[in-house]
Amino acid sequence: MIIAVDGPAGSGKSTIAAAVATRLNASHIDTGAMYRALALKVIRRALAPEDPNAVAGVLPGTEIVVGNGRVTLDGEPVEGLIRAPDVTAVSSVVAQHQAVRIWMVDRQRMVIHRAPGGAVVEGRDIGTVVLPDADLKIYLTASEEQRARRRAAERGASEEEALLEVSSRDARDASREHSPLRAAGDAVVIDTTDLSIDEVVDSVLLAMRERLKA
Ligand code: C5P
Repeated sequence: MIIAVDGPAGSGKSTIAAAVATRLNASHIDTGAMYRALALKVIRRALAPEDPNAVAGVLPGTEIVVGNGRVTLDGEPVEGLIRAPDVTAVSSVVAQHQAVRIWMVDRQRMVIHRAPGGAVVEGRDIGTVVLPDADLKIYLTASEEQRARRRAAERGASEEEALLEVSSRDARDASREHSPLRAAGDAVVIDTTDLSIDEVVDSVLLAMRERLKA
């Protein structure tokens, strides 16, 4: 079973994807962590993230591996470094470049198809581009205020700061030319604003059972 989970920042993707993967004994693959790891490399090399050629230039010597909460960049574990605010901001800038997206999608498909017991894959373009044939596509949404509140609680930032971060990143992700953030036509859309984690997980599992029956 391969489940795609897409949605904007703070919609609950990571929490829900991890919980659903645990319930199904499947792998959890966080594709956002891959864009974050590349952003970290671009920052360390002092490259201009908006320059497509500069960013494309680092790809050939780069190895990024994700799965079940682990992220390595050229062999170095970087989970603890990729949630920093500067990496977060740069991740959605490098994610705009077509060469980056092609590189990422190739690697993502390889990891997903090798996952024993299926995979729950979270991102922005999983249902639309990476896995158009996923068994189930989920698109999570939530009000901007709620998403900022969740981000603020996770990161220990103020709600104003979190709101600014979430809204500028979403605007960039939704308006970019290549693989913009949007729900696939056949995605099950779940508004998580007023739902608990368990309620969302149950909705996803219910959608999965219905899909299997059909
Ligand atoms: O999901 P997360 O917030 O960790 O993603 C960081 C950034 O990576 C997003 O803002 C987005 O620009 C990019 N991303 C993407 N496509 C994906 C996953 C993440 O463009 N499948």
